[in-house]
Amino acid sequence: MKVRNPRTGEYDYNLQEDSTQSVVEKALSIRSAQKEWQNKTITERVAVLKKWLASFTNFQSEIASQLAVDTARKRISEVETGGIIGLMQAWSYRAPQLYNPPAERTSASANTVQIGQQWIPYGLVGVISPWNFPLLLALIDTIPALMAGCGVLLKPSEVTPRFMDGLEKSIKAVPELNAVLKLVRGGAKAGKAVVNTVDAICFTGSVPTGKKIGAVCAERFIPAFLELGGKDPAIVLSDADLEVATDAVLRSCVGATGQACQSLERIYVAENIYDDFVEQITKKATAVTMTTNPEEGQMGPLIFEQQAEKIQEQINDAIAKGAKILSGGKVENINGGLWCRPTVLTNVNHKMSVMVEETFGPLIPIMPFRTEEQALEWANDSIFGLSASVFSKDREKAIEIASQIEAGAISINDGSLTNKVYDAEKNSFKESGINGSRMGDAGFLRFFRKKALLIQTAHPETMAHFEEKSS
Ligand code: NAD
Repeated sequence: MKVRNPRTGEYDYNLQEDSTQSVVEKALSIRSAQKEWQNKTITERVAVLKKWLASFTNFQSEIASQLAVDTARKRISEVETGGIIGLMQAWSYRAPQLYNPPAERTSASANTVQIGQQWIPYGLVGVISPWNFPLLLALIDTIPALMAGCGVLLKPSEVTPRFMDGLEKSIKAVPELNAVLKLVRGGAKAGKAVVNTVDAICFTGSVPTGKKIGAVCAERFIPAFLELGGKDPAIVLSDADLEVATDAVLRSCVGATGQACQSLERIYVAENIYDDFVEQITKKATAVTMTTNPEEGQMGPLIFEQQAEKIQEQINDAIAKGAKILSGGKVENINGGLWCRPTVLTNVNHKMSVMVEETFGPLIPIMPFRTEEQALEWANDSIFGLSASVFSKDREKAIEIASQIEAGAISINDGSLTNKVYDAEKNSFKESGINGSRMGDAGFLRFFRKKALLIQTAHPETMAHFEEKSS
């Protein structure tokens, strides 16, 4: 597969795709080593994770450079590799605290029976990840799954595959890890082969792909942990601090060029502060600098050509239906890269795709609302329910509004806090995902099945127990 460089537009990297046969062989190889991995104590598995942390650190700058080409983002790539080290450290500390199957006890409902409780990890977990944060989203589920004792078959996105070369070196340097964690290269075909061979799936990606994978998992009767797209709303209440709200909304909408699942994508502002809000955010949006020189600037090009087309289509649709563009407003080709400046749109409504479909780009469509009920109705008028924001100086009021938004995580007086906070459990609502939280303690505990050993200590009941008696 030829891979496009998002900065130059050139196809300058060859991805050697794994065949279905190769995926099956990797799965078999992991399965042959997984029982031994599962039988290690949690302390022994943490010791292996610490060896990986050391080898990952050795390859950190190589991985960050490859990631920087994959995504055309230097600083974020460094933050991403640093974030993985943080995750490895956090799970090294937290997993042994959480691994705590209850001690043997007497049953409360049958007092001659002793209960022994075992936690059994899924043998082989498939992790399939997207292109927007290629390293972080490849490893966020992989690390706790490994600590639970699962083997992992990991297929990152074919759009941003360069970082896999450095990552694979860091894995191969730790033989015990290499036996139970293998990378799969390729696109949908390789992904399907993964889904068809594992015992559980952790998928991060779009709703349409998530639905297809969910259907296969249902047919195969294996669990699917699906983390999908969003269309996150912000509600800016009439008493909000405008400086705080405009800074946070801008950063959340256009940080990482808006290519984050938890980016704010539609903004509802109280009528009495709407004009000031629009004026301030437009000024700030216009001042955002582009990294056309990779060493300078705040916002990079769009990573994925097809996403750039979708963003342009949404802008065109909004303009055709009467929207006003106050900044940015088109996808530009600069030296082969596809760029979109922060784009403030007003005069928008829910008949426009920009207000209802996921954008995954740096657009800031803003609507005024008259009542809080109206704002909530619009915020909840969506097939998505990933996350959201509320801005208000009144903490209680903000919590009251946040409690009525149908989404899994609500940032108050900020945007996209789920990219910083990893220890708060959250479930996606509606089509944004399904099954146990990847964040917080559940991120580890969801990889175990609970098994009960029921030990009879008295003589078992005999058939006399079923004797019918006349009363
Ligand atoms: P995508 O659904 O196109 O692809 C994701 C992955 O699935 C890729 O690795 C791809 O090769 C693989 N794939 C495609 N078809 C497959 C199939 N039939 N079977 C198995 N695997 C298959 O998503 P994308 O464009 O890479 O990523 C962007 C999407 O990811 C956005 O919708 C974004 O919101 C979402 N996302 C969600 C979260 C979250 O935590 N909820 C985080 C980041 C991104």
